[in-house]
Amino acid sequence: MRIVVKVGTSTLAYPTGHMNIRRVEELCKTLSDLKNAGHEVILVSSGAIGMGVGKLSLKGRPADIPTKQAAAAVGQCELMYTYDRLFSEYNHTVAQILLTAADFRDEVRSTNFSNTLLRLLELEVLPIINENDTVATEEISVGDNDTLSAMVAVNASAELLVLMSDIDGLYTADPHKDPNATLIPTVHALTDEIMALGGGKGSSLGTGGMKTKLHAAEICMSAGCDMVILNGSNPLNLYDLLEGRPVGTRFCSH
Ligand code: GLU
Repeated sequence: MRIVVKVGTSTLAYPTGHMNIRRVEELCKTLSDLKNAGHEVILVSSGAIGMGVGKLSLKGRPADIPTKQAAAAVGQCELMYTYDRLFSEYNHTVAQILLTAADFRDEVRSTNFSNTLLRLLELEVLPIINENDTVATEEISVGDNDTLSAMVAVNASAELLVLMSDIDGLYTADPHKDPNATLIPTVHALTDEIMALGGGKGSSLGTGGMKTKLHAAEICMSAGCDMVILNGSNPLNLYDLLEGRPVGTRFCSH
């Protein structure tokens, strides 16, 4: 199975901006194992800005664009250095791909991207994708990695997109506020009621939230790709998912 796995900043880093080492190690081990089992894995990783904030000892997520872009430039190195090191331990080679929305809009660039991606998969490389934050200002950026990962999944004709987040899945209400909120295991159609569960933004260092995840589901489902929201605090959830045990919220495209 060809799977795109997206991990958010809240999964990879502590609120301080420093890396959650145990989490990242578990993630790399699990993804390596899935590759060993024969799955094709593409990772869309956030965390560049968050880790740049940690490395530069900034007080919080920067508000101005040049500092944000500088933090991304620093943090992206840290991110790839870590992935390269951890995946090498399991004999997997990684590749970095940085994209913006303009790359998907332009037919030539988008074809170049899919050709490269497919060739990397043939070469058994694990592509790691992020937004090219250093050049992406509002008019050309995708803006959040939930949407970016959905665009990647469709472009790569993946069968499944997994969004690993700091929440177990989609709930009937905000579980941080409503004790009666229950997890919705399966979504077959993005009705107005489901879309209304979007709410606002997620963590302090990341960009997404449920709203961008539902937008990602729209992109995936209309292209025939399933999407699952899983809690990234336990990367072993990926085994449950691929072995057919109920976990997270699945958005079924068929
Ligand atoms: N590209 C951003 C980063 O690496 C993250 C965007 C997002 O969290 O959705 O920091």
